[in-house]
Amino acid sequence: MTSVVPIRAVLFDWGDTLFESPHAPRVMVSYARERGIRLDDDEAERMWDELWHAGKTPEEHAKGRDLSRDAHRRVWTELFARKEAFIPGIGRVLYERVMEPSIWKPYPDAEPTLRALHDRGVKIGVVSNHAYDLRPVFRDAGLDRYIDAYALSYEIGVTKPGRGIFIEACRLLGVGPADTLMVGDDATSDGGATEAGLRFHLLGPYGRGGERGLVRVVEIVDASRAVDA
Ligand SMILES: [Mg+2]
Repeated sequence: MTSVVPIRAVLFDWGDTLFESPHAPRVMVSYARERGIRLDDDEAERMWDELWHAGKTPEEHAKGRDLSRDAHRRVWTELFARKEAFIPGIGRVLYERVMEPSIWKPYPDAEPTLRALHDRGVKIGVVSNHAYDLRPVFRDAGLDRYIDAYALSYEIGVTKPGRGIFIEACRLLGVGPADTLMVGDDATSDGGATEAGLRFHLLGPYGRGGERGLVRVVEIVDASRAVDA
């Protein structure tokens, strides 16, 4: 962080940043078992990693899945259906048991991080490529009290890495891009924030059920403010 401009607002990505998906390989194994198909944990892990990585490619993003619910269901179900040859019906099952946002859970360090930023008077926004309203998800998790604005692609009509979604998030928070830090797990889509003049912090790889490394965000904010004499 070389800039001396203090950070006044932080924007967070949602999926794999603040919230964690249900354990998809476990969903695959249990569904396979329901169908009488043998699938071990390692094989399920490999299949899921392949699908999830494919889901993050520009080709998949370009299919417009984050602009409407119908497209979201169709595009993800088609992607997951690549494994139908091994497990018939898995496309629909993975969509319903993994992709529904209401069943995602916050990482254990999400609440303390949001609270720490909120206590410092830092504005907080959520910037997500998503076709669902995430406000009820934050409400149910008890985190909505910390969020000052939501910039959701299906409402704004622009997906990350498009500049427009970051600019709109800053406008909603009443801050300038130069005063704002974007935090996310995707160097391409979340990293688009730098094109809009924001700073960007890329989260590292993550394991299941553990902390997400979000405390680093508070350190970055504090460091930016320490030079603000
Ligand atoms: Mg993400």
